[in-house]
Amino acid sequence: MRLIFLGPPGAGKGTQSELISKKFNIPQIATGDILRQAVKNQTELGVLAKKYMDEGKLVPDDVIINLIKGRLLGDDCQMGFILDGFPRTVAQAEALTITLKEMGLSLDAVVNFSLKDELLIKRLCGRRVCKSCGYNFHVYYQPPKEESKCDKCGGEIYQRDDDKEEVINRRLKVYKEQTYPLIDYYRQIGSLKDVNVNHLLKDDETDTDVEVVLAKVIDVLEG
Ligand code: AMP
Repeated sequence: MRLIFLGPPGAGKGTQSELISKKFNIPQIATGDILRQAVKNQTELGVLAKKYMDEGKLVPDDVIINLIKGRLLGDDCQMGFILDGFPRTVAQAEALTITLKEMGLSLDAVVNFSLKDELLIKRLCGRRVCKSCGYNFHVYYQPPKEESKCDKCGGEIYQRDDDKEEVINRRLKVYKEQTYPLIDYYRQIGSLKDVNVNHLLKDDETDTDVEVVLAKVIDVLEG
């Protein structure tokens, strides 16, 4: 199964793609995670990407497109993959269409997650991540048992630089200007499946239940 998970930052596509990756035994290819690892390791890619990421801007298309082209050749992608955070511009989507065609492959679905801004901001501002294992916490919805310490591995928990409020606003603006047009791109191709998370909120409307969203994602994929 070859999938794209599309949506604004904070919509939950990372969490869902991780769960779907396990369920269908296909790799989750998250460009944000690949870039953060490169920044951590101070590779050439990391040094280049950092200045864009810190400002909430997109890393240049040619850099990301080459990264993905290489990644899709991996043996683990033979049975499929989930692209999480790629493509993010029309140029990236067009390059992906050509690459897949050259490989003789096609997409099974593009899952489009949507969620109102108010909740996106609340989710991103409160998000905390374990430095060691990458597990996500949230200061309101899922605080760690011990402050600043990961429940899973004991690692240190931190706030991503781009989850600070001023950067979040920029990321949402970039999403609306550069990534939103992809919804039409894929709707026209006919592979778009909508998951409107606004319709899946808990009764008190504060947030969603991960399992409820997962059931909906499986439903649209199998439907
Ligand atoms: P994410 O973890 O998906 O929110 O990505 C974090 C940051 O990595 C983004 O704000 C961008 O700076 C960069 N990034 C991730 N994926 C892409 C992409 N497909 N194109 C350009 N920049 C990206």
